[in-house]
Amino acid sequence: MKRNQRKKRSSFLLAFIAVVICIVLGAVLAFNIDNGNTSDKSSSSDTSTSSSSLENESSSSSSESSSEEESSSEAESESSESSSEEQSEPSSSEEQESSSEQEEQTEELSPSGKPYSYYETVEPTYVDGVLLVNKTYALPSSYGGSNDEANYALGNLQTAAGEAGYSMPLISGYRSFDKQDGLYRNYAARDGKQMADTYSAWPGHSEHQTGLAFDIGALDDNYGETAAGKWLAENAHKYGFIIRYPKGKESITGYQYEPWHVRYLGIETATAVYESGLCLEEYLGV
Ligand SMILES: [Zn+2]
Repeated sequence: MKRNQRKKRSSFLLAFIAVVICIVLGAVLAFNIDNGNTSDKSSSSDTSTSSSSLENESSSSSSESSSEEESSSEAESESSESSSEEQSEPSSSEEQESSSEQEEQTEELSPSGKPYSYYETVEPTYVDGVLLVNKTYALPSSYGGSNDEANYALGNLQTAAGEAGYSMPLISGYRSFDKQDGLYRNYAARDGKQMADTYSAWPGHSEHQTGLAFDIGALDDNYGETAAGKWLAENAHKYGFIIRYPKGKESITGYQYEPWHVRYLGIETATAVYESGLCLEEYLGV
């Protein structure tokens, strides 16, 4: 009886264990199927990548199995390589994007539309010994500084103006490339680029960077109509200066009439330009 009981117990235990194993196996299978379903339900890109990876696996396994056989298997393995390249494409395209962004950063354009790197190598332009700076002819960004000869001549001009009864204070002289860059950008932000272009030079294109140009008297469009402005226009050449942006020459100089902006050329050249009635570009024949 005891043996029978033991047998019954042990067979019952075995049956119970078998049932538990079945339940556990069933649960595991059901879990896997559920996962499969959810992955199928996920986005089509996921399923395409999973299917392509399956293709890769199958093709690579087929190439492995038929290794060194025919060119067709090689072609298969090549195709699997190319498809794996395609899979890694997103990361490589991201790299390309970031590198192109870096290129854009290094090739940032100055207000003139030229890259800043242009102003690292451009050479100053001299025509008949006269340094010419305008919207066409630029200075390198490293160029410039205060000019002693021009400063001395400006002092003579101011003294003579004072003796004639006119105060002609210096408003602005030498400006560096970077200073001009900041000024122009502020003007363009305030008035728009088109308007700023009529009265403010792009960095590298300002006469103020030469140290040979000065704004004196008053930054007033009507300054040329005042007694002081008229005296300046009629006498500046005697001290080596010209009114660089005369009235009526806007289309040639590229700037509005600026009765306060004088450019040092030396007495001889300034007198010749004054007597010609031409603006500097016309006088130099550029
Ligand atoms: Zn000026």
